[in-house]
Amino acid sequence: MELNLTNKVVMIAAASKGMGYAIARQCAREGAQVSMASRSKKQIEAAAERIRKETSSHVTPFVFDAADGDSIERWTADTLKTYGRINGLLVNAGGPPTGLFDQFDDKDWQAAFDLTLMSAVRMMRSVIPSMKQQGGGSILTITSSSVKEPIDVLILSNVMRSGVTSLVKSLSQQLAKDKIRVNNIIPGFIDTQRLSAIDAQAASQFGITLEQRREQVASTIPWKRYGKPEEFAKAATFLLSEAASYITGVSLSVDGGRMKTVW
Ligand code: NAD
Repeated sequence: MELNLTNKVVMIAAASKGMGYAIARQCAREGAQVSMASRSKKQIEAAAERIRKETSSHVTPFVFDAADGDSIERWTADTLKTYGRINGLLVNAGGPPTGLFDQFDDKDWQAAFDLTLMSAVRMMRSVIPSMKQQGGGSILTITSSSVKEPIDVLILSNVMRSGVTSLVKSLSQQLAKDKIRVNNIIPGFIDTQRLSAIDAQAASQFGITLEQRREQVASTIPWKRYGKPEEFAKAATFLLSEAASYITGVSLSVDGGRMKTVW
C-alpha cells in the first residue's frame, strides 16, 4: 500500500518523546518532511537529530508550548517559512494532571482548557488557511479512552478531550469541501514515559510494585500487554496519509481490544 507521504510536510506536536516522537519518526521513515515541536529546545533538537540520522528525510525541530497560542502561531509561521506548505498536522500535548473533581479549582480547569482543548482549536486554526490554499490536508488529534469511558481520576482529561472529539467531528463536516480530513486517534495503554509515571503513582497508592501494577493493567486488555509507541504510530501515520483518503470524522481506538463500547 502506498501512503504517498514522500515530501509531504507534516507538523507533529509534542514530539520529543512518547507517541508524538514515534509518529514523527514513522512519518519520516515514510519519506515525509517533518516539522516537530516541543517545549524543551534541547530535547526536541536531540529527538530531531535521532530521526535525521535514521532516515534521509528533512526534519526540523521547533520550540513551542501547546498551552500558549502565540507560540503555536510562531511554530506554524516558521514551518511555512521553512517548507512553504503544510500537508498534515498531529495535534498533541502533555496530558492534564490527574485528580478527582474536588481537587481542582478554576485555575486548574482553565489550565486544562488551554493545554488540551484550546491547543487543539489553536493548532487547527493556524494550519487550516494554508491547507485550504493548497487544496487539502489531514489533521489528526490524540485523545484518550476517557472520552468513551470516563476515568474517575482523569476528570480534567475526560471533559477537555470530549470537547476535542466534538471539534474533530464538527470540523470534519465543515472542511470536507476543502478536502481537509479531520480524525482522532485514541490510545489505550501505550507504553510511554507518561504511562510509566501514572503507573508509578497508582503502584504507590495501592502499595504494590510498578511491575505488579503493570501486570494488573495488562490483565484487563484482551491482547494482555501494553501497546508499543511504534504500533500506535503506524495507525496514526496511516490516518495522516493519503491512504486514508476517504476517512474523516472518525475516532480510531488503538488499544489491544480493551474498550468494550461498540461506538
Ligand atoms: P509523553 O509524556 O511520553 O510525551 C509527551 C510529549 O509532550 C513530550 O514530548 C513532552 O515534552 C511534550 N509536551 C508536554 N507538554 C507540552 C506542552 N505544553 N507543549 C508542548 N509539548 C509538550 O506522553 P504520551 O504518552 O506520548 O502522551 C501523549 C498524549 O496522549 C498526552 O496528552 C497523554 O495524556 C495522552 N494519552 C496517552 C496515553 C498512553 O497510553 N500513553 C493514553 C491516553 C492518553
